[in-house]
Formats: sequence, C-alpha cells, structure tokens
Amino acid sequence: MKILVAGGAGYIGSACSEYLLDCGHEVTVLDSLVTGHRQAVDRRAEFVLCDLADREGTFGALKGKSFDGVMHFAAFSLVGESMTNPGKYFLNNLGAGINLLDAAVAGGVKRFVFSSTCAVYGEPQHLPITENEKTNPVSPYGESKLMFEKALEWYRKIHGLEFVSLRYFNASGATQSFGEDHNPETHLIPLVLKVAQGKAKSIKVFGNDYDTPDGTCIRDYIHILDLAQAHELALRSGKSGHFNLGTGSGYSVMQILDVARKVTGHSIPAEIVPRRPGDPPKLIARSTHAAMELGWKPKHESVAAIISSAWEWLKKHPDGYPPN
Ligand code: UDP
Repeated sequence: MKILVAGGAGYIGSACSEYLLDCGHEVTVLDSLVTGHRQAVDRRAEFVLCDLADREGTFGALKGKSFDGVMHFAAFSLVGESMTNPGKYFLNNLGAGINLLDAAVAGGVKRFVFSSTCAVYGEPQHLPITENEKTNPVSPYGESKLMFEKALEWYRKIHGLEFVSLRYFNASGATQSFGEDHNPETHLIPLVLKVAQGKAKSIKVFGNDYDTPDGTCIRDYIHILDLAQAHELALRSGKSGHFNLGTGSGYSVMQILDVARKVTGHSIPAEIVPRRPGDPPKLIARSTHAAMELGWKPKHESVAAIISSAWEWLKKHPDGYPPN
C-alpha cells in the first residue's frame, strides 16, 4: 500500500513508518519538524516538509498521489502545556488536523488511522478500561483528541472516509533505529533513564499517597513497535471504530524504577514530591476489541523488554537526535 504518515518524524510516527516500510509498504512522511526530528525519518521514505496548518501545502502533498491510507500522528502531546495554553492544542490537534482530513477527502483517500489516547477517558470509572467507558477528558489535550475523533465520525458519514482511532495507553520503548527524544521531556521512562545516564541526579516521583499497593500511580506501558503493528493491521483490516491499545498489565512508578535499576545497573535515586495535578491513580487497558477485530496482540509485553529497548537506543544516541 501507499501510505502518507503525517507526523512521521516524531516518536511513534517514526517507529510506525519504519514498520510499514519493513512490511513492504511505500511511505511518504509529512512533518513540520516543529517537534519532530529529520534524523527520525526513515531513509527509505519520501519526506515532505509541511505543517498541517498550511492548508494549501497539505492539499498539495496529497493531490494526485493516490494514497491508499493516511496515518495521522502529527499533534502536540504535552498534557501540562495544554492546561496553560489550550489554544495551541485546539488549533493544531483539531484545526490543522481538519486540513489533513479535507486534503485526504480531496485526494480520494479511503482509509484514515488516527493516533488517539486514553486521555479521552479522563478519570475512568471502571478498570480495565474498555471502549465503552464514558469519554470525559480532563485536559485540553485529551479534549482535542476526542474532538478530532468526533470529526472523523462526521467525515465517515458525509464523505465515506473510513477510520480507525487507536487510543494508546503509555507509549514507550524504542526500535533499533528510532527512540524517544522530546523537548521538554515529561515522560517517566525517558526521565528515569536520564538519571541512569548521569544527566540528572534523581527522579521525582509525583506522589506516593495514591490508593494503589505502593502508593504510586499505575500505568499500562505499551511498546511503540506493538503500536506500529496495530496501525498496519488497522489499515488492512477494513474495520472502523475506536480501539484501546495497551497490554492489560499495570506497573506502578516504583515498579518502573525497580526494573530500570535492574536493566541499567544504576541506583537511580528517587525523591518523593507532591502529586502532579490531573494524574489518575490507575490506567489499564482492556484491548480485547483490538484483538478480536484487528487481530492485534502485543509482542513486547514485559516492561523489562520495553525499558531495555529504550536504554539500548539511548546508549547509541546519548544526546538523542542531532539538531534538524
Ligand atoms: N511520573 C513521575 N515522575 C516523573 C514523570 C512521571 O512520577 O518525572 C509519573 C506520573 O505521575 C504518572 C507516571 O509516572 O503516574 C507516568 O507518567 P507519564 O508522564 O510518563 O505518562 P502519563 O501517564 O502521564 O501519560
């Protein structure tokens, strides 16, 4: 298949492009490089430098190209930032995304795969979380993703654009070639590994007074290669709808620290600090819908394997990607 990957220079988009190419697909990466890295674009892919906010440029990238599918990873993803600058999130994640949808329709694209998030559920009432859980985002980031999902429903009804929306839990790990390099970095695993690298003295643990066995928050960490596999299946499946992507197992912050200590051989000192606002105590996915409908099964379920892959990548790229 011929696939356009918007946001293919980002963390998950780069791993997914690599996987699609490995599967024998033809990939065009479209990315503004505002948060993405030129070095994260697979050499086998065609690259188009374009911001989705540039409607004409986005239309131009799809015109006459006969893409079989579009995958959309191009979004801002800092929950905290969205709480202070909501406009940035609605403008880009919703508004600029609409340019991509219109360009896909104009370009005759029939299938669309969207990077969504478990943040659409906010603080869930039931665990593990199924797709029937009430959506109730607690940040403009989660809301912007939910709004885009709703736009997708209308585009299906009105334009016949079939879509799959993949609601990721905690994307983590690295491939042999591509890894995580955010600026600023806010995610637990890369921050823990920065301590192991000697780039930070300790890791701040945001609260140990949650209603969980060790008092720290529990998350469902899913390897980016498993996410990549889900995208490929979603495109081929002919199915439409929303799918949770997680392993179904939860690990606390303290458990992640313990595993990271074993993987890196570093003591990784931790400091307990107050809770980070907006962190739900426990987020664990039920992904049977993706298993049944898409035939998806995560292959890298152990957090040790996930953390090892991220550590291996960091050993090869101690300072992340070079500047664009
Ligand atoms: N966390 C932490 N210290 C950090 C970063 C994260 O204790 O420096 C915790 C955070 O409170 C959450 C978990 O680690 O419970 C995962 O956070 P992350 O930002 O990686 O992902 P999120 O679940 O917020 O999407």
